[in-house]
Amino acid sequence: MSQSSTQTLPGGAPATGKTRITVARGDGIGPEIMEATLAVLDAAGANLDYDYIEVGEQVYLKGNAAGIEPRAWDSLKETRVFLKAPITTPQGGGYKSLNVTTRKALGLFANVRPCVAYHPFVRTKHPAMDVVIVRENEEDTYGGIEHRQTDEVVQCLKLISRPGSEKIVRYAFEYARRYGRKKVTCFTKDNIMKMTDGLFHKLFEEVGAEYPDIEKEHWIVDIGAAKLADTPEVFDVIVMPNLYGDILSDVAAQIAGSVGLAGSSNIGAGYAMFEAIHGSAPRRAGQNLANPSGLMLGAVMMLVHLGKGEVAERVHNAWLRTIEDGMHTYDIFKEGTSKEKVGTKEFAQAIIARMGQEPATLKPVRYAGGASKPIQITIKERKRARKELVGIDIIVDDPRKSPAGLADVMQKLGGKDFDLVMMSSRGMKIWPDGNPETIIMDHIRCRYMGRDGQVVSHDGLAELLGRLANTNIDFVQIMNLYNFDGQPGFSLGQGQ
Ligand code: NAD
Repeated sequence: MSQSSTQTLPGGAPATGKTRITVARGDGIGPEIMEATLAVLDAAGANLDYDYIEVGEQVYLKGNAAGIEPRAWDSLKETRVFLKAPITTPQGGGYKSLNVTTRKALGLFANVRPCVAYHPFVRTKHPAMDVVIVRENEEDTYGGIEHRQTDEVVQCLKLISRPGSEKIVRYAFEYARRYGRKKVTCFTKDNIMKMTDGLFHKLFEEVGAEYPDIEKEHWIVDIGAAKLADTPEVFDVIVMPNLYGDILSDVAAQIAGSVGLAGSSNIGAGYAMFEAIHGSAPRRAGQNLANPSGLMLGAVMMLVHLGKGEVAERVHNAWLRTIEDGMHTYDIFKEGTSKEKVGTKEFAQAIIARMGQEPATLKPVRYAGGASKPIQITIKERKRARKELVGIDIIVDDPRKSPAGLADVMQKLGGKDFDLVMMSSRGMKIWPDGNPETIIMDHIRCRYMGRDGQVVSHDGLAELLGRLANTNIDFVQIMNLYNFDGQPGFSLGQGQ
């Protein structure tokens, strides 16, 4: 459904010289907060042309598992900029996350969420908080690659790539430079996930060295998260892999004041999507109650991306002034601090009435200078590492849970080329010299290495698997073990 507000020339260019963007009104409170946002953008002179597309609940319920109508992709390919209101994912299984689909389909690798306190105008426990979370958006466990492998064990693959990590870390440093931020902090759990989170951390160190003007620090995510919840004012920009970023950006937005206040951008090389961080809040829908601020601040990021820095500045400063003047929707309204409880529409009108004004107490924003263009990221060329096949991990389904018995069989299968060096269950070594207290599942990893440290061949692996196939042992997964430039590309078993 296209409802462009202006006449469109062939090829999609609007007749009025307006910039065309793709807009989804979404579900629940979505249509109300979108209407309020677009009214403010129009009043600020954003000069935009809207191509409306259908996404969300109604599309899902028509049987489209991705929740986005096919025509929407044509619109996105043309405009490359998507302003999206929150949507409702219907209850029950089988529906794919529209956000994950859009991020992956459009290569939106960076999710940027500024989380700012507006003290003393919006109640917060952290008056000086001003943190930007930069979350990796395409990798980690979000590939949704999950398998049930045995009766007792399911698995989810966590994939972290060097180019993916480099892109997001570089984006975080470029963002810091562009917006005059002083420090970039990295959160990972590389004390446990030494290879996946370890790679992310390594790229943070490598790329960070190219930004001597910016302070750098790394925190293990658990204590980092505790520190963020307790003293967020010590952080500036925080870059994280996908899962930690997903969780902690909501925490950061909530402790800044309200999830209703935070906007978010999803940035790729060719496309960008802008939204509020909250959902469709169906219980508040249709009552002119919802706070449109999250979507409006997402739209401000969109204006900057479009090179309309002056308009972005006008909208953001008028919004700050409105907050400062105590015109508050129900979610941030507090007797004594707020002046007037307003609805969605009235809040938008209050911003429009203040267009051209700046806040008096809060710091005005400035986007009209160098800030107003997209951040471009280039990945460094590098030589591929030399790769040698040195062994194999074979996961078997062994309901007997008897390491000694299984080890006898598996050792014999090693033949002349392989030594069985270790067996583990849930990562914990159970053979040789397992601890009798270790609880064993029916999911056992058997690690074979080439005899005497020899490189092995695919033919050798195939023969090993052939011998295993002639037993009654079910093997559920194999993972080749490689050295890269002579260094092991695999972790040791816990206790190995
Ligand atoms: P939610 O963020 O929609 O709402 C949680 C609560 O926060 C609401 O009940 C309301 O009290 C408050 N709230 C949120 N936004 C507000 C606003 N703008 N103004 C005032 N109050 C606001 O989370 P939920 O209830 O867990 O999810 C509802 C639906 O939204 C679900 O279907 C979920 O899948 C979907 N969702 C969509 C997105 C998205 O499209 N980006 C993100 C998160 C959740």
